[in-house]
Amino acid sequence: MSQLDLFGEQTPEKSAKEQEQAVRLSREPEADLSPDEKERLLAEVRAPALQCTKCKLATTRTQVVFGEGNAAAPLVFIGEGPGETEDATGRPFVGRAGKLLDEALRENGMLREHVYIANVVKCRPVVFEGGRARNRAPESDEIEACNGWLRAQLNIIRPSVIVCLGGPSANVIVHKNFKITQERGRWFENSPFAPWVIATLHPAYVLRMHGDGYDAARRSLVSDIAAAREKVIEIRKASKAAAT
Ligand code: SF4
Repeated sequence: MSQLDLFGEQTPEKSAKEQEQAVRLSREPEADLSPDEKERLLAEVRAPALQCTKCKLATTRTQVVFGEGNAAAPLVFIGEGPGETEDATGRPFVGRAGKLLDEALRENGMLREHVYIANVVKCRPVVFEGGRARNRAPESDEIEACNGWLRAQLNIIRPSVIVCLGGPSANVIVHKNFKITQERGRWFENSPFAPWVIATLHPAYVLRMHGDGYDAARRSLVSDIAAAREKVIEIRKASKAAAT
């Protein structure tokens, strides 16, 4: 299934409202790089990133988790940082949280290869307790050190829509002190990373919930992803309407 198939080439309705929306929505980044060029440029950035030692996480990681997916995807997911399974495999969101993300994508008619998935920091942040490594939140100096890699990725992909998975990601992509429980599911248009950004609950957070809380959190995750997919379709329709 191609990216265009996935996000729908819908026939634009040429209502006045639609035309008006077109102006606002047509801030989609210019598709000035072909998918092949984006793949090539991402590979060029990935190679040095895999050797990066710009912050202290380099000393405890197994491998750098650069990110993966469709280099030309209009929809990008950004999480906080790799966990244990990601550190072991070098791939983002492949543990239990990744399986839940895959489910949420599938329930919205999408597969992982149609989107791009990365994290704010590319190496697993850990704290050692009783001789065991446990996940921890990335620290501000680590986020800052890794920001260049994230910017490079997003400058190449130039997504129309970013979904922040969890508050720490939204702190970087949207604004500081992001309050995920209050601000998830809203659209933000002031991010330097993409014209449209929405934040949702991190799948790992959803998995920590139980009973009705789990059901509600899971529904939020699925519905926020649905909104992001709809936004991509809306942007495409608006761009097409603006061009006619
Ligand atoms: S977290 Fe980012 S900046 Fe730090 S070592 Fe890994 S790749 Fe480099």
